[in-house]
Amino acid sequence: MSENDCIFCKIVSGEMESEVVHDEEGVLAFKDASGKAPVHVLVIPKQHVASMAEIEQLPDAVAKRIFEVAQEVAEKTNVAESGYVFRINNGSDAGQEVFHLHAHVMGGKRMGMP
Ligand code: 5GP
Ligand code: ZN
Repeated sequence: MSENDCIFCKIVSGEMESEVVHDEEGVLAFKDASGKAPVHVLVIPKQHVASMAEIEQLPDAVAKRIFEVAQEVAEKTNVAESGYVFRINNGSDAGQEVFHLHAHVMGGKRMGMP
């Protein structure tokens, strides 16, 4: 999928609507459209990177901010203390559906593996 058809690029540009939780220069966090937990937020780099296979293309500062924003989102949504899952699906065995790198932040109930 090219960047032009990428739904998360469209969310970044504002062409598609989302419920934004956090917005800063290089990183956006918004609610997952079909939340699988009481709190289910996606944290993405604004730059189009398909998956971890392209992680070297992301500036170090942006990669670090994805982690920090995940923690900030967890605090804002009151799951930082109770705990949350930080998860990045990569490729078909992981069930990756959207090929714009994104980290799931999920909590508000008992989360297990996988
Ligand atoms: P993946 O399996 O690729 O890690 O997860 C993709 C996630 O994106 C899914 O949890 C799905 O619900 C979410 N998603 C797919 N399309 C949209 C959309 O248009 N808006 C929002 N907010 N979430 C989406
Ligand atoms: Zn994209």
